Amino acid sequence: MMNIILLGAPGAGKGTQAEKICESFHIPQISTGNIIRAAMKNGTEAGKKAKAFVDAGQLVPDEVVIEMVDERLKQDDCKNGFILDGFPRTVPQAEALEQMGVQIDAVIDIEVPDEVIMQRLGGRRCCLHCGATYHISWNPPKVEGVCDKCGEELSIRKDDKPETIAERLRIYHSQTKPLEDYYKGRHKLHEVEGNRPVEAVTADVLSALRSLSPLEA
Ligand code: ADP
Ligand code: ADP
Ligand code: ZN
Repeated sequence: MMNIILLGAPGAGKGTQAEKICESFHIPQISTGNIIRAAMKNGTEAGKKAKAFVDAGQLVPDEVVIEMVDERLKQDDCKNGFILDGFPRTVPQAEALEQMGVQIDAVIDIEVPDEVIMQRLGGRRCCLHCGATYHISWNPPKVEGVCDKCGEELSIRKDDKPETIAERLRIYHSQTKPLEDYYKGRHKLHEVEGNRPVEAVTADVLSALRSLSPLEA
């Protein structure tokens, strides 16, 4: 049983590292960004509520996201653990998670300076079908423009343009950053230096998790 939260700025590498943890620990990646983009694509009620916020680089209202996560965590595949990627992003979201009775084993905080974030998000390519992420220079797919995992075409996220990135970073610093102290106070926070090659970051993330649960991976 391993319930993990990945914390970090937009573009810190949460999605990228979540994919690696999934492979090692065989627990699902729950990305609120991916769930919201799927809801928008399918035109659901929640997707319609979310769209204007996502496109403007702002956070979707807490109650909408909390409801999505609550439903997702009730599914069977979460029984042996899960990786929350992009949730919680505000203190009220973290409190809601506690109120759901969810125990968290570790919060991995991936630290990357703002200057690097701009370059990362500028070169990001995403698979809207399976949620995998790539970077044109630093983490390219085997075939340009095509997802390694599912073969679908890759796209550029509409919110990965410079003006929107700046707004997302501003919101990260004001709303999400306080979660570091929140989880430090609960003795759950593990800080990882994220401004290194993907493999180096993964090695630190996995060793932090294995030290908590040596039997699982
Ligand atoms: P990032 O690459 O910035 O970490 P995500 O894919 O996690 O982006 O999220 C994309 C967008 O979806 C966010 O900018 C926000 O509008 C919305 N979103 C995702 N997760 C949350 C959340 N926990 N609370 C509010 N909004 C969220
Ligand atoms: P997040 O989920 O935190 O928004 P992603 O995992 O989508 O971040 O990563 C953002 C971009 O940076 C992607 O294009 C990804 O391929 C790239 N990336 C992720 N980790 C690294 C790393 N350690 N070094 C260089 N590029 C990275
Ligand atoms: Zn894919």
